[in-house]
Amino acid sequence: MITDYQIRVTPEVAASQEAIADYLSEEKAITAPITHVRILKRSIDARQRNIFVNLTVRTYIGEEPHDEVFPRVDYPDVSGRPEVVVVGAGPGGLFAALRLIEQGLRPIVVERGKDVHERKKDLAAISRTQTVDEESNYCFGEGGAGAYSDGKLYTRSKKRGSVEKILQVFCQHGASTAILADAHPHIGTDRLPAVIENMRNTILRSGGEVHFQTRMTRLLIHGNRVIGIEAQQAPDGHEVSFRGPVILATGHSARDVYRYLDAEHIEIEAKGIAVGVRLEHPAHLIDQIQYHSREGRGRFLPAAEYSFVTQVDGRGVYSFCMCPGGFVIPAATGPEQIVVNGMSPANRGTRWSNSGMVVETRPEDVEGEGPLKMMCFQEQLERLCWQQGNRKQTAPAQRMGDFVNGRLSADLPVSSYAPGLIASPLHFWLPTGISHRLQEGFRTFGHHARGFLTNDAVMIGVETRTSSPVRIVRQTETLQHVRLEGLFPCGEGAGYAGGIVSAGVDGERCADMCKAYLSQNHTDRRL
Ligand SMILES: Cc1cc2nc3c(=O)[nH]c(=O)nc-3n(C[C@H](O)[C@H](O)[C@H](O)COP(=O)(O)OP(=O)(O)OC[C@H]3O[C@@H](n4cnc5c(N)ncnc54)[C@H](O)[C@@H]3O)c2cc1C
Repeated sequence: MITDYQIRVTPEVAASQEAIADYLSEEKAITAPITHVRILKRSIDARQRNIFVNLTVRTYIGEEPHDEVFPRVDYPDVSGRPEVVVVGAGPGGLFAALRLIEQGLRPIVVERGKDVHERKKDLAAISRTQTVDEESNYCFGEGGAGAYSDGKLYTRSKKRGSVEKILQVFCQHGASTAILADAHPHIGTDRLPAVIENMRNTILRSGGEVHFQTRMTRLLIHGNRVIGIEAQQAPDGHEVSFRGPVILATGHSARDVYRYLDAEHIEIEAKGIAVGVRLEHPAHLIDQIQYHSREGRGRFLPAAEYSFVTQVDGRGVYSFCMCPGGFVIPAATGPEQIVVNGMSPANRGTRWSNSGMVVETRPEDVEGEGPLKMMCFQEQLERLCWQQGNRKQTAPAQRMGDFVNGRLSADLPVSSYAPGLIASPLHFWLPTGISHRLQEGFRTFGHHARGFLTNDAVMIGVETRTSSPVRIVRQTETLQHVRLEGLFPCGEGAGYAGGIVSAGVDGERCADMCKAYLSQNHTDRRL
């Protein structure tokens, strides 16, 4: 017999299947032995001093589970099928490519960076040599900006079906099925590369192509139709071209792509962003605050999360991309920039917890004109930050309490940021609209969560790549560019997604629209 139950149990009971089975036998007076328990949904309720875990569990009584944990996608052989060029192998591009295969189309994936394993060496070099490889870094390379991240998989997207599909495809490629149950699922930076490699192997096994170290330099345009791309391949820079409709999933940091589109008068527009700093606390302190206990998380709870939001002078101030038990990382993509971000391993087990603390910034808040003005603002801030340090990847930083009180920090706490920190008056050199709002925001957050506003926390400058500063304008129905048919601006870089899951959902939608486009245009009789 299979029966689903909703239960509310202590973290200790929730931590083991045997304990859940024992609990159910007693609470529900089940006399027959429970042969298996599957957790369908899991969320932590830490609002009160006594913490509970809400579970939806499926029990198998007197039988073994024969049903699939999740439906698997069948990827057919697409050799010889019509080709679609996918630029960028981030979540947007990878999910677009996999969906194209489902639809019987052959993806040609073109990625400027290296494969997910080679890329790791360039990431390590950032801390070791203090230099950033412009083609292989925390934003560029297989897996995109999502590869060496926290791998948080929650989204505000309302399209539940589409979100579940993305999680299931991750599981099919090796992610833990816990992500299907958790209210706040995450994979972890140590687990993501293997999952991404498996996704690449599915593309290759099905007859698709993946070209690394191949940077799109321009679109091939015939009249008002995009018919392919031209690209440069490392290491010798020789030119190659690929033909087909183009899914452009180049992410929020491909500034050369935005500059190219602008120079070619391909319609783009400035988009609001959020900018600020990374804030790092001792993980134990966040656990104490969020779990209302001196002991912190104890043995059975994960590193605690938080989420804060307020309004200061008409603009949102909020925590972003919180990484419990994680690291602050250098996410610049070029010279003379400092950009920080956060990631965490699957066990979220480091001594620190960090989040972006950012201020909503609208185009009207920034001087200048034109579609690239928000991108230029990002660039200025990242360069200003680099100038405040030692002109390497050592990041300017200030203790949180000192920042709020307008004092330079005499020293800094030990931080997870590997390239190192240098004490700097962020309250002084950050644009006033940002520093003032962050100061007010921190006071409010400290009021709501006692102990959060503390000199034990350090702010690290600057967090600027929270979303795309540009929108590549597309039609709502067809997802094609407003003027150029055969061009599908996709994912975060196009300004239509923010985060791994929503970029994946957008990738799938672009693939579906690409299929419809090819069908309508009868460009290939085999379709
Ligand atoms: C450190 C870090 C941590 C993050 N943590 C999380 C998290 O925990 N959860 C979450 O949901 N989101 C997280 N994000 C954000 C998330 O990674 C992005 O929202 C997501 O990756 C966007 O997907 P995308 O495919 O649209 O773009 P991207 O992931 O940016 O991928 C774009 C790809 O295009 C390639 N490219 C660019 N230009 C060219 C060109 N000219 N030719 C060929 N290839 C090109 C790039 O190399 C890159 O691989 C994090 C981001 C960072 C940087």
